[in-house]
Amino acid sequence: MGSEAKPRTLNICEAAGTQRYRSKAIADKAAVRRSKQLKREMAAYSCASCGGWHLKEI
Ligand SMILES: [Zn+2]
Repeated sequence: MGSEAKPRTLNICEAAGTQRYRSKAIADKAAVRRSKQLKREMAAYSCASCGGWHLKEI
């Protein structure tokens, strides 16, 4: 008991194949950061498959 070998796993949505955010607020912040990193415009959208939020390029 107690030896969790998993490092910190990201929440990946199988339907979207991308990271899942728990709320729009979190996803929005991530979108801003990603937009700067990628120099592209990213926006948060809600996923019907997992009920979470993902980023997409707009
Ligand atoms: Zn999803």
